[in-house]
Amino acid sequence: MQVYLVGGAVRDELLGCPVRERDWVVVGATPAELEGAGYRAVGREFPVFLHPQTQEEYALARLERKVAPGYRGFVTEFSPTVTLEEDLRRRDLTINAMARSADGQLVDPYGGRADLAARLLRHVSPAFSEDPVRILRVARFAARFADLGFSVAPETLELMRTMVRAGEADALVSERVWRELELALATDRPERAFEVLDECGALAVLLPELATHPGLATALAALHRSTAVVTTDGQPDTPARWAALLAALPAAAIEALCVRLRVPSEHRDLALLAARLGAHIGHASHLPEPVATDAERLLALLEMADAWRRPERFGCWLEVWRARAAAESLPHAAIEDFTTRVAAAVRATAAVRLTAAQLQALHGPDIAALLRQRRLEALRILRQP
Ligand code: ATP
Repeated sequence: MQVYLVGGAVRDELLGCPVRERDWVVVGATPAELEGAGYRAVGREFPVFLHPQTQEEYALARLERKVAPGYRGFVTEFSPTVTLEEDLRRRDLTINAMARSADGQLVDPYGGRADLAARLLRHVSPAFSEDPVRILRVARFAARFADLGFSVAPETLELMRTMVRAGEADALVSERVWRELELALATDRPERAFEVLDECGALAVLLPELATHPGLATALAALHRSTAVVTTDGQPDTPARWAALLAALPAAAIEALCVRLRVPSEHRDLALLAARLGAHIGHASHLPEPVATDAERLLALLEMADAWRRPERFGCWLEVWRARAAAESLPHAAIEDFTTRVAAAVRATAAVRLTAAQLQALHGPDIAALLRQRRLEALRILRQP
């Protein structure tokens, strides 16, 4: 049997990028031989094994044949006679269809190395059109490698358009769509994925609420700006990015598309909050000055955001707002000013406390009313120079 390193690891090594995961293909072997050598079978639909020591994935070389629509409509054939070239041919992109042998030789039957040099995402064969997940993968790779100068080959984009016109994107199941979108959101240039989906027509099928919105270009610019937001442990903040993308849509549209794609609640809730707060302060197309200086509206903003009980989420929303405001060309000084005022408003109102005597003397609704009154006073004082 011969063992080859394949796919992303070969691609990333040639690109000089860190290799995240190594996948292997085994040619000329049977499942029994691999199990006899101590590999553990894990594949449900086709034979994949885990190496006894490294736990890396080893798959028997296989062929795929499309028998029904959708991404599950494949039958897989594997036997010791399936060649490496045949296995590589069923892969999506030429840059993902290279292998390296045990003695270090590059096996590149479909021109992956030339396409890496030309910075092109090109499909391996017409069989590309058999799996609509590949449309999403191309969009994701376009985003991931955008800063390296990659673009989608014109003939691949055309093939993706043909697939969408033929209704292939309708067969995508929500879990796969969201999985790929979330991976795309976590890249350095997430807006590229959505641009590619728009260019091939898939955005109109998968996210029609966004595709038909007049603010699509601004939404993509806001998504780009939002990549500056990271989580406390320095990871890409995908809920913030999702919220920056969708914040200008009506709340009902956000709700509908998040339900349809089974988007996690953290992403959905932040997007809805951004839409509602954005509507309250009059999106960033004009200066939010009146909000920042109007104690009533400022307090309403903090109340809607539940800013005192959810300070982290509020901070995250403020970052989303900044990304959107910058995308809408609000002057930098105005963005900084609004941010400073809002942060000061949170601090001032969070410091408001009722005395033990007040709490004892009043009932529930009166306590809430007094607290609100004190918070308003704190905001009015804040306004004064
Ligand atoms: P990553 O670095 O994100 O893991 P990867 O290229 O290794 O990138 P995987 O999803 O791990 O991506 O897939 C491993 C390989 O399997 C790919 O390089 C590609 O050759 C092939 N592959 C995966 N999914 C598909 C698909 N839907 N159609 C065709 N080939 C695919």
